[in-house]
Amino acid sequence: MAVSDPKVVNNHEAPKQVDLDRCVHCGLCLNSCPTYRELGVEMDSPRGRIYQMVQVTLGEAQINPSYIEHLDLCLACRGCETACPSGVQYGRLIEAARAHIEDNVQRPWHVRALRALVFKGLLPSRAALQMAGFGLYLYQASGLQKLARGSGLLKAMGPLGRAERLSPNAEMPSFYRYYGKIMPPVGEKRYKVAMLGGCMANVFFARLNEATVRVLQKNGCEVHIPDNQTCCGALHVHAGLKRTARELAKQNIDTLLSGDYDAILTNAAGCGSTLKEYHDLLEDDPAYVDKAHKFVSKMKDVTEFLASIDLNPAMKSLPYTVTYQDSCHLAHGQKVRTPPRMLLKSVPGLTLKEMPMSDLCCGSAGIYNVVQNDMAMALLEKKMRYVNAVNPDVIVTANPGCMLQLRAGSTLHGKGQPVKHVVEILDEAYSGG
Ligand code: SF4
Ligand code: SF4
Repeated sequence: MAVSDPKVVNNHEAPKQVDLDRCVHCGLCLNSCPTYRELGVEMDSPRGRIYQMVQVTLGEAQINPSYIEHLDLCLACRGCETACPSGVQYGRLIEAARAHIEDNVQRPWHVRALRALVFKGLLPSRAALQMAGFGLYLYQASGLQKLARGSGLLKAMGPLGRAERLSPNAEMPSFYRYYGKIMPPVGEKRYKVAMLGGCMANVFFARLNEATVRVLQKNGCEVHIPDNQTCCGALHVHAGLKRTARELAKQNIDTLLSGDYDAILTNAAGCGSTLKEYHDLLEDDPAYVDKAHKFVSKMKDVTEFLASIDLNPAMKSLPYTVTYQDSCHLAHGQKVRTPPRMLLKSVPGLTLKEMPMSDLCCGSAGIYNVVQNDMAMALLEKKMRYVNAVNPDVIVTANPGCMLQLRAGSTLHGKGQPVKHVVEILDEAYSGG
């Protein structure tokens, strides 16, 4: 990989000095960092990464493979942000540092080709996602996946084969069939809300999206699913592709702001965190920054919204025990911890048992578990020890990405328990258990 020359570096997207200066290098964040806990290496801690960013931004060090490696290994889980007493906004820093790398370093051609295919060709394209989903559906439904998993072929494929274990089930028909529709409330209309279907979730979590609509309807919501919405850009931001993310953000703002909704909702914590930070993403765009602020003021995680209204109590009893894994981008990114727990406690018969370290990353982190599979699997194994300590019947979380990772964890290190989203638990309770 090419190395940048500090004298000719393009610093447009670099972390801002004012953000970097907040870090006083106290080290109080170290123990909350999954990669530091795992490796014990300062350069793989929040403090060490910030120090490297300072050196690069000041032109005292190159953007070299070592710098990229230490930043790539960061999960962007923002556990350090919660722990930091000095208010360091680490999420802003890592996102800027990755965009800075992207602006100054040319990755090998095959990496560039793959990134272009995924981030520009696949994620923002409804047609491409539907095709990919259908292809995977055939692979899974035809028995080919079972054959590949049983044959040892995947083992021989190394990390790629291990990542296959994390591949989601394609769910047909996809959620795209609801695009452009308005789903009426059950009973009296109390709210008019818009729902974002996500990108991959339309194909791989279609049933979760449908459950979300049903729960909202049961709570007096008229649910609009605007047709022109697109991918939120979260994965792009995490990969340093801020320019593409900005274009997606503008399309979502234009589409969603025209509807005069009481709230704009997502059931994906990873998406919600970026959607709530559109004003940061567009801070240098005078034509959009105010609109972005207005958009953000309406943006809510679905658990946050449901916990803020008078919840329909007409639920049947679910007599089992669950444990709740905080999604990093909900707990650390959005500071939403109580609402999902409130909702679970509102279900009759359900017992919530807290696991230790529920807000420590499970290793999912967008596509991290695919591109950094070894670290992701090591973190998952630790996470499952905490889960097993409370022996739940069901593992609950609030983000599709975490669900996939925990499903792998439940199979590999747990008791094969189901892994569900909070709204799926509510949907089950509303539909009679
Ligand atoms: S990020 Fe915060 S907690 Fe961590 S070293 Fe810097 S000031 Fe201290
Ligand atoms: S975002 Fe997570 S992995 Fe990255 S430095 Fe902070 S705590 Fe560590």
